[in-house]
Amino acid sequence: MSKVHLGTSGNPPNFFESEFKKDRLLAPLWIDSIGLNAYEVLFTHGVKMSDERAQIMGDNAKKGNIKLSVHCPYFVVLTSDKEEVVLRSRERVKKSLTRAHIMGATSAVLHPGYYNGTNPFSQLKKELKNLCKWKEDVGIKTTINPEVMGKKSQLGSVSEVIEMCSEIEGLAPCVDFGHLHARDGGFLQSKNDFRIIFEQIEKGLGKEGLRNLHCHFAPLEYNDKGEIRHRAHTERDYKPHPEPFCDLIKEFKMSPTVISESRDSQDTAAIEMREYLKKINYW
Ligand SMILES: [Zn+2]
Repeated sequence: MSKVHLGTSGNPPNFFESEFKKDRLLAPLWIDSIGLNAYEVLFTHGVKMSDERAQIMGDNAKKGNIKLSVHCPYFVVLTSDKEEVVLRSRERVKKSLTRAHIMGATSAVLHPGYYNGTNPFSQLKKELKNLCKWKEDVGIKTTINPEVMGKKSQLGSVSEVIEMCSEIEGLAPCVDFGHLHARDGGFLQSKNDFRIIFEQIEKGLGKEGLRNLHCHFAPLEYNDKGEIRHRAHTERDYKPHPEPFCDLIKEFKMSPTVISESRDSQDTAAIEMREYLKKINYW
């Protein structure tokens, strides 16, 4: 078995060109057919998948030996000062977790929110703590993974994400290296820049926390406010580049899940990364 789980965020154009295109629930089998081993199910605009379909998704992932994760809806704002927004956000996270549990997904990625309200960070931590308690009570093992966000107006710097995850049981980070790069003005250039981040994660979350890291990866375009848009891996002017990232995965002997978010080329970017990992004898 390979040391790294590598896959796509949702379905890129190539999926819709493939023989599997007739049903999105076949995506894990498509992933297997192209030699990858992870897949992130996107609940971007709401959790519309039934329990029954979640079960089929999970069965297909088992058949293909694919590690599944889900991405909670974008409209989850646990930091809101509007009660009804927080209530609806909680329900959306619970619904995501329920489907994730049925399909056997290990992680549920969540956007932490914004710097709004009176004390957004402590409000967020309180909400996440309650959600983790809820999932433990109902027997859901899927972790909630607050994501490192790309815009400075969004809560979710790498330090904030590490802090939440070290304080609350049931959380694990989603380190989006493209976001991190864009948020910090093009931070990830050399191998040493990646090393700084890896060491920060290891310090905050321990060896196991780093070893099993859930990552998003894509080159990003940014300005002084942070993220503008995701770019394709073939656009080499945009960073971060995968090679120093893969070198460090090997150096730290990690066994991470890396979800490719390369624009319209999640699959080919992940395959390129796999080939590089093979080249350095770490696949
Ligand atoms: Zn995200």
